[in-house]
Amino acid sequence: MRTLIVGAGIAGLAAARRLLELGLEPDDLRIVDKARGVGGRMASRRIGTPAGVARFDHGAQFFTSRSETFSSVVAAAVDAGAVVEWTRGFGPDPDGHPRWRGSAGMTSLCKWLAADAGLEPLLGHRIMDLRAELADHPADAVIHTAPVPQALATLALGAMLPEPTVAQQLAEIHYKPTIAVLLAPQIDPTGLAAHGGAQYVDHPDLAFVADNRAKGISPVPAVTIHLSNERSNELWNATDDDVLTRALAWAADALGEAGDRKALVGHQIQRWRYAGPVDIHPDATVVWGNDPVVALAGEAFAGPKVEGAFLSGRAAADAVFVR
Ligand SMILES: Cc1cc2nc3c(=O)[nH]c(=O)nc-3n(C[C@H](O)[C@H](O)[C@H](O)COP(=O)(O)OP(=O)(O)OC[C@H]3O[C@@H](n4cnc5c(N)ncnc54)[C@H](O)[C@@H]3O)c2cc1C
Repeated sequence: MRTLIVGAGIAGLAAARRLLELGLEPDDLRIVDKARGVGGRMASRRIGTPAGVARFDHGAQFFTSRSETFSSVVAAAVDAGAVVEWTRGFGPDPDGHPRWRGSAGMTSLCKWLAADAGLEPLLGHRIMDLRAELADHPADAVIHTAPVPQALATLALGAMLPEPTVAQQLAEIHYKPTIAVLLAPQIDPTGLAAHGGAQYVDHPDLAFVADNRAKGISPVPAVTIHLSNERSNELWNATDDDVLTRALAWAADALGEAGDRKALVGHQIQRWRYAGPVDIHPDATVVWGNDPVVALAGEAFAGPKVEGAFLSGRAAADAVFVR
């Protein structure tokens, strides 16, 4: 069964590993991703500063593992040095449940998932029209793990959408945006707990602030600010300058003097249009067709976030394999 996997984020890599477990020949597996590296929204970035390279997690900040399946993979990644425990809770009253992070940034887990299984995704390869791609590289099955609106766009061009009621259900999966503000200050922030993370639940302006040096991934001061979904929506078309001004004001307590704009040695603004689904599809994957069989997977299916995306990728692999 020649299989194309679109996306080398956690869902795509989980699907690929599952197909190999089921006995698929590695030569029958083709994984492509438009990005320059694996990981998708488990994203890390660097900014050069006079003091050294500042490293940031700018998408997902941490992940949890509850299911046995994902926990066993996380345990293997911990043994391999790709994942470490960050903390057991962010608030004043931690719940004691481990929050994991990649050892050198969130991409570490995906890099390890690929290397451990001998997977070599084709990077920098964007699928525009899935049917055209399949004309060049035929496949019996496709597992598509892009955010659902992006996946549907590549399917629509080649008239590969599922029957109308399913297509309509998929078209109703909407996403919340998040603006990430990356700061390279000269000094570390002073208003965060020793582990360096602050999670804001139901905060009007902020969703998360992380000191990436305290977190253990940056050798020099590096702060990630995630604006709340509401503020991200409001500021989506604002200038980077405006976003920076407001983010510094909203995060002033967490930053302390590190928030002095004149003393920043670097900054970047990243807009995540598809930060997370508003509603989750009830099934772990949606599958249709026979020539090829197509499955959608990712965090929008059955369970959100990193673990949900992982489990959805595996479910898609199981579903296409039995067809
Ligand atoms: C700002 C932010 C904060 C988050 N915080 C957390 C958190 O703290 N904890 C948590 O558990 N989760 C968090 N998440 C969610 C988590 O990152 C996602 O649930 C998970 O990474 C999704 O994985 P995925 O494989 O489904 O999708 P993705 O990671 O998006 O992977 C899809 C891949 O498909 C590729 N792709 C898309 N279209 C095409 C195309 N046409 N051709 C080729 N390739 C394509 C993309 O480049 C991408 O690599 C956060 C996400 C964001 C954006």
